[in-house]
Amino acid sequence: MSDEARKIRLLMELRRGGVTATNVLSAVERVPRDNFVLPSFADQAYENTALPIHQGQTISQPYVVAFMTQALGLTSSNLKVLEIGTGSGYQAAVLSKLVRRVFTIERYRSLYREAEAALKRIGVNNVVTKLGDGMLGWPEQAPFDRIIVTAAAETVPDALKAQLKDGGILVIPVGRDPVSQSLLRIRRQGDQFIEENLLPVRFVPLLPGIAREAQDNPEG
Ligand code: SAH
Repeated sequence: MSDEARKIRLLMELRRGGVTATNVLSAVERVPRDNFVLPSFADQAYENTALPIHQGQTISQPYVVAFMTQALGLTSSNLKVLEIGTGSGYQAAVLSKLVRRVFTIERYRSLYREAEAALKRIGVNNVVTKLGDGMLGWPEQAPFDRIIVTAAAETVPDALKAQLKDGGILVIPVGRDPVSQSLLRIRRQGDQFIEENLLPVRFVPLLPGIAREAQDNPEG
């Protein structure tokens, strides 16, 4: 089966799972996921599964990327979005098709560099990457219309709530259990934060500080 045929199958699967926003489906369609996976997993780039990347991290399942993107309610293309957990850069690339500017933070230097290179290869130029601790947000660029966290937090970091615009939306997986977390959508109304529980999910943990690099290599 060709990548094109696999991609069509994947889009049908996303739609069946309730991702019906045409702008989101079109963004997924326009981003080559094979550009963000390790060469040894290229044949699985359009499968609806998470895949390993360097440093023991993962590129999220396409359904979860699409679902979270839809949950952000990107009603205008003029929005400024913050992502915590760049990983492969795939989620940032999908967002780049839908909003004006994406700011994304990663705590592993090697992943941050690889993601930056991957985004450049496919000509994405409205994503700004940074090495740092995303739990602190990006104060110099705040406030944000939307914030998406793609690693599981034990609790919602206060800095992220503080950097959300009034009327803004934060989407974040929360939970202490490594194999079962809840995807929350939090809407800010003034000093009120209104929470909704959307979906059970499974993410790698959100950890503090810049990471020490491990010399791992899942490609063998
Ligand atoms: N959005 C990514 C998913 C990557 S997995 C993608 O589309 O591929 C989550 C990533 O969050 C990992 O790379 C991990 O290193 C990173 N991460 C965890 N805690 C973090 C923190 N405090 N700040 C920044 N990145 C963090």
